[in-house]
Amino acid sequence: MTKLATQLIQGTNGTDDQHTGAIVPPLYFSTAYRHPGLGQSTGYDYARLATPTRTLLEQQLAAIEHGHSALAVSSGMAAIDLVFSTFTQTGDHFLASDDLYGGSFRYFDVRKAKYQIDYDTWNGQTVADLLAKIKPNTRLIWLETPSNPTMKIIDIKAVTSAVHEKRPDILVVVDNTFLTPVYQQPLTEGADLVVHSATKYLSGHNDLLAGAVITSTAAQETALRDQLTTTGQTLDPFDAWLLIRSLKTLNVRMKAHTANAQALAKVLKNDAAVSRVLYAGVGGMISFYLAKGYDVNAFLQHLKVCSFAESLGAVETLVTIPDVQTHHDMPVAQRRALGITPNLIRVSVGLEDVADLSADLRQALASAKEA
Ligand SMILES: *Cc1c(COP(=O)(O)O)cnc(C)c1O
Repeated sequence: MTKLATQLIQGTNGTDDQHTGAIVPPLYFSTAYRHPGLGQSTGYDYARLATPTRTLLEQQLAAIEHGHSALAVSSGMAAIDLVFSTFTQTGDHFLASDDLYGGSFRYFDVRKAKYQIDYDTWNGQTVADLLAKIKPNTRLIWLETPSNPTMKIIDIKAVTSAVHEKRPDILVVVDNTFLTPVYQQPLTEGADLVVHSATKYLSGHNDLLAGAVITSTAAQETALRDQLTTTGQTLDPFDAWLLIRSLKTLNVRMKAHTANAQALAKVLKNDAAVSRVLYAGVGGMISFYLAKGYDVNAFLQHLKVCSFAESLGAVETLVTIPDVQTHHDMPVAQRRALGITPNLIRVSVGLEDVADLSADLRQALASAKEA
C-alpha cells in the first residue's frame, strides 16, 4: 500500500475518470438505481444497502485501518450497536476496559438489563488478570486506549495474542477514536474489529456525526452487512462525502494536534493551578486536575479561545468536565475509583495557534483562584 499520508489524500480520487476526470469524487444522492435487466445489478440497488459515495468511504476506511472492509454508519454509537447486535446474544458475556467513553457504558448497561448480556471490567493493567476474567460464555473484549478520560495505555498486541491463544473465538474490539490509524492500527496488532466515532478526529471539524466498523474477515463483513441492511443505521451520502474530504487532512491534523498538545501539557504541568496532568504523549487529548483552592466553574467562565463543550477531536479546542458531562451516567463510586472527580478537566486540543491556547488556559486558570 502507498504510505498513509498519500492514501488519505489520493485514495478516494480519480473515481470519475471514465466521465469527467474530476479530481475529487462525485457525490451520489440517488436512493434508487436502475437495473440493467431482471436479476441484474450495477452493484447498487437501494441506498440502505449501499451508495457509491458510502462505498468509496468504506474502501478508504478499510485501507487506512488495514482492514478487510468497513461499514460506515450514522454515529459512533451506531457502530458500537452494530457490533453488539451482530456478534452477541442473550446470555453472552463480555469484558471491557474500565475507563472508556461514558456512552459506551450506558450502552453496555442497557444490553445487560434488556438482553442479559453481562459484562465485567478490567483495569487495563495485567493481561493475566484479563485472562482470569474470561468465562466460557465470553464473546468479546472491548478496549479503548488511551483510556478516556484518564489516558491509561493498553498494550493491544499483548492482549490480542494472549486472548487468542487461550480463546481464538473471542473477538477483540478496539475503539480507535482517540489515536486514529495515524498513530494506532489495532488490526495490525491482532485485533478483530475496530470501531470509530468518526464524529471526532476522522471528520475533525465539529460538523458531522458518523461512525465506522472496520473488519478483519469476509465473514465478519457479511454478518455486519446483513445486520445493517436489516436495521438501517447507515451513513447518509452527504456526510459520507464530507468525511471523505475530511480524511484528506487527517495525517497533518493529527501531527498538529500532537504538537499543540505536547506544548500545552508542559504549560499545564508548570501551572500552580494544576495538580496533575494526564497525557499519553501522542494525540490531542489531555486531562488535568485543578488544584485545591481553584474553582472549576470560574475556570470555564473565563475561557475565551477554548469552548466549554462536549465533544473532541476537531480543529476547535473544547474543554469538557467528564464528571458532569461525558461520564455522568456512570455510578459515582465507579467514577471516583477511576479518578473521574469534579476537578478533572479534559481538553481536546485544537489547531489554533498554541500561544493563544496557552495564554487562554493560563489566564482562565489564574482567574479560577478562590478568594
Ligand atoms: C464520541 C465517542 C463515541 C460515540 O460516538 P458518537 O459519534 O457520539 O455516537 C464512542 N467512542 C468514543 C471514544 C467517543 O469519543
